[in-house]
Amino acid sequence: MLDVIVIGMGAHGSAGLFHLAKKGFNVLGLEQFDQIHNNGSYHGLSRIIRMGLYEGDTYLPLAKRSFELWRDLEKEYNEQILYMTGIINIGKKNSDIYKNTLNSAIKHNLDYTDMNNEEIMSRFPGFELSKDLNGVFMKEGGFLDPEKSVKAHTQLAIKNKATINYNEKVLSWEDKISHIEVLSNKATYKTKKLVIAGGAWNIDLFGIPNLPLSVIRQVVGWFPSNNKSLFDKNNFPVWILDDGKNHGYGFPEYGNEGLKIGIFNHLNEKVHPDKNNKNITPEDIKLLSDFTKNFKNTKKGENYGVCMFTNTPDDNFILDKHPSSENCIIVSCCSGHGFKYSSAIGEIISDLCNEGKTEYNIDLFNISRFN
Ligand SMILES: Cc1cc2nc3c(=O)[nH]c(=O)nc-3n(C[C@H](O)[C@H](O)[C@H](O)COP(=O)(O)OP(=O)(O)OC[C@H]3O[C@@H](n4cnc5c(N)ncnc54)[C@H](O)[C@@H]3O)c2cc1C
Repeated sequence: MLDVIVIGMGAHGSAGLFHLAKKGFNVLGLEQFDQIHNNGSYHGLSRIIRMGLYEGDTYLPLAKRSFELWRDLEKEYNEQILYMTGIINIGKKNSDIYKNTLNSAIKHNLDYTDMNNEEIMSRFPGFELSKDLNGVFMKEGGFLDPEKSVKAHTQLAIKNKATINYNEKVLSWEDKISHIEVLSNKATYKTKKLVIAGGAWNIDLFGIPNLPLSVIRQVVGWFPSNNKSLFDKNNFPVWILDDGKNHGYGFPEYGNEGLKIGIFNHLNEKVHPDKNNKNITPEDIKLLSDFTKNFKNTKKGENYGVCMFTNTPDDNFILDKHPSSENCIIVSCCSGHGFKYSSAIGEIISDLCNEGKTEYNIDLFNISRFN
């Protein structure tokens, strides 16, 4: 019998498998697609990492631990995964993004610079901001390469004797009291513990009636510039920007040519993950292109990518025991801000499997809040 099966080798499942394998568990990871794929929520070349600021205090210890673990992972994998560009959160003075970032930075004594629009544009000439926008810049932020992160976690898990079966889809699971039985399209397995980290497929995999998770289609675009230095990662930060109309986020040039832009929840289209429309529509292009007014010198978008957010009503994660199975851990660290924490969440998954508890306060992520 296996010690632990982890369903889903995306952001959190791969990190969980890595930490479990390092602790010496006999583990199996099951992934319905290839090692790296673009059907879930982690693809697209970059994910913002920052101190857990405007989401609330629970996230700060997780953010600190995540930074440490990403740096450890880079050393062990011997490749760069984390790019420190700094981060600027921009909005009107009364916007959540500006206010909460500033308050949290003050409260937690973090190193930050409060800037008006002129100061932002002078320091980062790629921005073209209206007078009513202000920003909080912090050096302690940047982006992760998500494909490389997943590769690193899975390959190092295998190095630590984990097995991973790709192109194997889990169809169902059942707690038989003495063990958990997992049925895939290829085999039936017995395991002492089960971790479900299926991302946008969690609604089906958790099997919890009336769970208020919604899967939202998300599109990002890359906008090249005549002046490449404006969005060079050595002098342009990652950013989150609420311009009063739309709440966007993005990255300096990395991987694809140009500035990368996304809008939180995009056009708010609910989808089933098996039927997410990967075709780019004129509405997708218009929404993202309109947002380029906040930047200087961008040209027509050349590349687009489609992904999915899995949202809870309060935007907080789910990380808990399954309500009807003590030996099953359910993981949905989502709502468009989960990737950065996946290194720490992986460690917590392994602690929950190992000791049934974690030193981190994860009460905010209890499934019982939806009762
Ligand atoms: C466009 C976009 C931008 C984002 N930007 C950021 C950001 O800047 N910073 C940040 O921190 N977060 C960001 N996020 C959120 C972050 O990427 C997600 O929170 C994270 O990827 C979720 O991880 P996960 O492991 O839950 O899901 P995934 O990473 O999608 O992994 C789930 C895996 O489970 C597999 N699976 C599902 N069902 C089965 C099954 N039945 N059998 C076998 N395998 C199965 C899937 O194929 C998939 O590989 C963004 C998300 C999107 C879509």
